[in-house]
Amino acid sequence: MNEFDLIDVFFKQPALTRPDVLLGIGDDAALLIPPKDQQIAASMDTLVDGVHFLASTPAEYIGHKALAVNLSDLAAMGAEPAWVMLALTLPNANEKWLHDFAKGFYALANLYQLTLIGGDTTHGPLSITIQIQGFVPAGLALRRDGAKPGDKIYVSGTLGDAGAALAAAKYQTILSASEQQYVMQRLHLPTPRVALGLALRSVASSAIDVSDGLLADLRHIVTNSRAGAEIHTHQIPLSSALQKLPRTTALEYALSAGDDYELCFTVPSEKSDQIKIISEKVGVPCTCIGEITNSSDIQVSGETLNLTRQGYQHF
Ligand code: ADP
Ligand code: MG
Repeated sequence: MNEFDLIDVFFKQPALTRPDVLLGIGDDAALLIPPKDQQIAASMDTLVDGVHFLASTPAEYIGHKALAVNLSDLAAMGAEPAWVMLALTLPNANEKWLHDFAKGFYALANLYQLTLIGGDTTHGPLSITIQIQGFVPAGLALRRDGAKPGDKIYVSGTLGDAGAALAAAKYQTILSASEQQYVMQRLHLPTPRVALGLALRSVASSAIDVSDGLLADLRHIVTNSRAGAEIHTHQIPLSSALQKLPRTTALEYALSAGDDYELCFTVPSEKSDQIKIISEKVGVPCTCIGEITNSSDIQVSGETLNLTRQGYQHF
């Protein structure tokens, strides 16, 4: 299979056409119609074999996750996903792998009416880069720099599941088969919190997605907002699987392991009543874990933890 057949067979799916895509895959560039009165939020993420996933990871999961992590970035901006580009570097044209990858990718893309408008296909060590664009009304994007002292800090869903999944072999006797399956699914098939991000426009004062670990990501909010934070360990939401692990281990995963793709956001206290309603409307639990302070660092109160690292760093 040559490069052009491969693109035609696996990626030129006419499954979904959006009126704002004048020309999609097949020319030197895509032609897009920018929406009136909205800003474009653009983001890019790369997954590298051996760094973000193992060669043994099913390709369908990789297709899902490569897109999910990008959707998560748009969710954290409160942007509505629209267009996506895919750069694939492949060691070989393995048709089964490509078929499975495309299946995972398209299942998620179709769910969000996201159109693949182009990309690049090259030969080399396996890596996947996705660039995504979405729309947000002017002034309503959820940025990292809007948190103010007194704002409540929330997280969606539960934290630490993906971190525990990476070490699941250690917990085979503690977790049931279904709990192990649950944490594995959280690692491989994260759910981007797109609807929550959209519902938080005009409500949240800042937001970020938890990709590197809660403390590391919250650090970006406090640094950019020139503030501090206090979080309470007893308030950190843990899944029933994580609740079975030794308490300090579970909290360490929740605070400093990455790959959760939940949203961490801040809300002025007078608007915090709205979170319960939003949470019910979008069907995603949201838990208050602390508040923004006047200091310049993050205090963790509650249980004593020995956190050796605050989050994932590449270098
Ligand atoms: P060029 O040589 O002009 O850069 P390419 O041969 O790289 O064009 O790509 C041909 C068309 O296929 C372009 O529209 C490009 O966006 C698209 N394309 C290439 N690879 C992919 C991919 N992995 N997924 C989606 N579209 C792709
Ligand atoms: Mg090209």
